[in-house]
Amino acid sequence: MSLLLNLIRQSRWILLLALIISIVGGLANAGLVAIINQALGASAERLPTLGWQFLLLALAVLVTRTLSQTIFVKLGQNTKAALRMKTIRSVIDASYQNLERQGASGALTVLTQDLDTIVIFFLSLPSLAMNGSIVLGCLAYLGYLSWQVLVFAVVTVLVGSLGFHVANTRAMFHLRSSRNREDDLVKDFRALFDGAKELKLHRRRRNAFVDESIAANVEAVRVQRTRGYVLYTAAASWGSMILLAFIGCVLFGLTRFQPVQAHVLSGYAVVFLYMIMPIEGLLSSIPSLSSAKVALERIDHVNRELPRENVEPADSATSFDSIVLNGVTHSYFREKENEVFTLGPVNLTFRPGELVYLIGGNGSGKTTLAKMIVGLYAPEGGRIELDGKPVEEADRDRYRQHFSVVFSDFFLFDELHGLDIDGLDSQAQQLLELLHLEHKVTIRDGKFSTTDLSQGQRKRLALLVTYLEDRPFYVFDEWAADQDPTFKEVFYRRLLPDLKARGKTVLVITHDDRYFSLADRYIKLDYGQIVATGDGRELEHQSLNAAA
Ligand code: ADP
Repeated sequence: MSLLLNLIRQSRWILLLALIISIVGGLANAGLVAIINQALGASAERLPTLGWQFLLLALAVLVTRTLSQTIFVKLGQNTKAALRMKTIRSVIDASYQNLERQGASGALTVLTQDLDTIVIFFLSLPSLAMNGSIVLGCLAYLGYLSWQVLVFAVVTVLVGSLGFHVANTRAMFHLRSSRNREDDLVKDFRALFDGAKELKLHRRRRNAFVDESIAANVEAVRVQRTRGYVLYTAAASWGSMILLAFIGCVLFGLTRFQPVQAHVLSGYAVVFLYMIMPIEGLLSSIPSLSSAKVALERIDHVNRELPRENVEPADSATSFDSIVLNGVTHSYFREKENEVFTLGPVNLTFRPGELVYLIGGNGSGKTTLAKMIVGLYAPEGGRIELDGKPVEEADRDRYRQHFSVVFSDFFLFDELHGLDIDGLDSQAQQLLELLHLEHKVTIRDGKFSTTDLSQGQRKRLALLVTYLEDRPFYVFDEWAADQDPTFKEVFYRRLLPDLKARGKTVLVITHDDRYFSLADRYIKLDYGQIVATGDGRELEHQSLNAAA
């Protein structure tokens, strides 16, 4: 809610203006009924005056309606754009750890569905304001005709709202739970594409996935939404029934105890009939109000679950003297297995111009350690020191700018975003040749001509990007795993020593024991603990001995 309030505050004057225009329109509309009513019983000489008044009011209704609807359409789209950017900002500014924990589905549903729900809410605002003021205007006119009838009308409205409130509470429950299922559906939709190969190859898996997972979620959404909206229909019928009961009671009941003149009675009838449409309009816009409320809750939720990382934004770093990990730890809690994986405490020091191999079995924590070293995970225990100074929360973004990384699950942008280097294209072209990609890919205006390549080739492009970034600390997570033997040779014997010779620190996560001897130093992990460190050449002796 606070989100919407904030946005409303920003455009409060224009909103106020639009509301006033809508209300004026609604009142003008109610004024029409008074004129119609007067015209019915008016003498011939009064008719022209009434006619002019009618014309003026009708024009006012037309102009105000167009104006207020235009303003609300604009406000709706502005709000959508603002909320969209705000949500994107909170995703961008959140810590990696939180992003990883939250997953994408929640934010994606917000960015696609919920924002549209908010727009629909804005589109219904002018008719809400207008209908509301027509009803209020009509009630006022009723009060002018007879105050007893007005009191009776107010009591009726209260009774009607009570029933509505009960239905609305239940319906909101259904809308909320259906909205939660939408998140699961988005997850399924992603699996539909990401897992297309696996689904195609296995008919029973495909059927089970569609019939059990997707169909169950689709069905749940269908049932919950239907229940919710049927409840609103029931509530709207209740509202209409109450209105008819009210009209009936006034026309046939109240007038018996309190005799009224024929023209007053016909006045009541005209006003009642005139009020029915706007009241129905009001009743039918309540579901869109409630949906908007649920959508706002979700938007708020996503924004709250992704708190801003408290960092001071920084630019690329060019050098460092030392990076020290001092007793750092990180743990994952795996809910399903009710198990905790803990990395560390780890004590390590890195200096410029070092080539370090990080080795160990699968699941020993190599990638986790790499994410700690580069500052994606804040250490839960211990601390990291850069050039002798502890890296505090605010410094973390600056700290991260020291690293160029190719993760094993890297993402390749098809544009070289944020690299404004003189002669970028020609520099990139040279690297393409070095990486044997010059026949596959070209680079123009910082854009790759294609990224539809084999995994090994895409990894070479990712490597190219890190070269262009030219930062002091390089991390490669099983980079060579997808390369053929000739290119492995190039990587371990040429590229890595070159980087080292340029004074870069290079941390290589690898299983290629043939090349272990090339490391200045190795670090071996097992179950999240460093079990051995030392010179690369020693390691080769060890593995040779083990083989013998
Ligand atoms: P390695 O890179 O050595 O193969 P990882 O660092 O990827 O190992 O993983 C170490 C352990 O942490 C594994 O047991 C893995 O299941 C667990 N793990 C990795 N990432 C996550 C995560 N995002 N959430 C929970 N557990 C994780």
